[in-house]
Amino acid sequence: MTSLTANWSFPTAIRFGPGRIAELPEALRIAGIARPLFVTDPGLAKLPVVGRALAVLEEAKIAHGVFSEVKPNPVEANLTAGVSAFATGGHDGVIAFGGGSALDLGKLIAFAAGQNRPVWDFEDVGDWWTRADADRIAPVVAVPTTAGTGSEVGRAGVLTNEATHTKKVIFHPKMLPAVVIADPELTVGMPPFITAGTGMDALAHCLEAYCAPGFHPMAAGIAAEGVRLVLENLPRVFADGTDIAGRAQMMAAAAMGATAFQKGLGAIHALSHPIGALYDTHHGMTNAVFMPYVLAANRPAIDGRIARLAAYCDISGGFDGFAREILALRERLQVPHRLGGLIAGLDMDAARKELIAQMAIVDPTAGGNPVELTAEGARSILEAAIDGA
Ligand code: NAD
Repeated sequence: MTSLTANWSFPTAIRFGPGRIAELPEALRIAGIARPLFVTDPGLAKLPVVGRALAVLEEAKIAHGVFSEVKPNPVEANLTAGVSAFATGGHDGVIAFGGGSALDLGKLIAFAAGQNRPVWDFEDVGDWWTRADADRIAPVVAVPTTAGTGSEVGRAGVLTNEATHTKKVIFHPKMLPAVVIADPELTVGMPPFITAGTGMDALAHCLEAYCAPGFHPMAAGIAAEGVRLVLENLPRVFADGTDIAGRAQMMAAAAMGATAFQKGLGAIHALSHPIGALYDTHHGMTNAVFMPYVLAANRPAIDGRIARLAAYCDISGGFDGFAREILALRERLQVPHRLGGLIAGLDMDAARKELIAQMAIVDPTAGGNPVELTAEGARSILEAAIDGA
């Protein structure tokens, strides 16, 4: 029987709507930030969205620094450089501006700048985070420019440990941004591949949270509506990136996914993390590849739940109908059906498959899978994704 004891958290103040980036000075005032470090990634730094946000700061005469050494799937060297920029610039808070990579790194800089322990001590396992100096976590205003990770409403940052080739989830309850500006106009410039990958990430969050066995009826409800919003709007924005209404619904679905996944994630993420760490693939796209294989493997535990979700989303045919819908969506978004479509020249021997399976079962997200994720189970999902079975 599911335990009826649980810890529930809900996100922060969100200023949602087109054009609300103009409220950045007000958001900084509320967060208590006078001299922000603006953290973004180098690709975005060249795009007009960053220019627009910086113009808002300049107009309001807010002294700020800009740090853009954030690689997709950020690594410790990015964090070290960011912490150093924070200290040398005399900053008192962070504007985390971008996709999950820049949002996570911005949050991690604000966290790590005041700590004396290595960041890896704060991995989301056990309770090491209680040893952090919580009073020295700098405030963050988060501004997402993708609609996928939902990192803007989360208390975690994902960082790749290059020494061990593992993706680690660094967690602290006070890493939550103080204010979020969710302005869908900032996502209009996403190219179709990023729109698809990030949107499928939001879907993976909602779907895995919905299926996770934890007791959290509110998160389950949010996750179900998030799934419906993605199914309805992701094809629209993939076809027409300027569709602001669709972009707004996707931005909401992304925040909903990350709100819901406090209930748990599962094997999609548990497998996607080692693949992302070893092959540097896009996180959401990797989730999208694994999605149907994980659904099939988990079917014995989620058949009825998915049938209910299908009915809610107006999809006929119960579990089979829902699984067909996911396959059709992937095809429409040009998501590769096999892992080899994502990783050029993929050739995994038995030892590599075993390594990935072992990494998957110790990933912090594995515990939320509705079927216990064993090494054998993880290997068999991986093989299905390689073979396209
Ligand atoms: P990303 O941040 O890595 O960005 C991908 C690419 O999209 C970059 O090249 C970036 O420059 C570009 N981009 C971003 N916004 C754009 C825009 N508006 N227009 C044009 N280009 C734009 O991608 P992501 O999927 O948002 O984030 C992935 C990262 O987030 C991974 O490291 C993943 O592990 C992490 N993640 C974190 C959480 C969390 O809870 N903290 C959850 C899921 C994933």
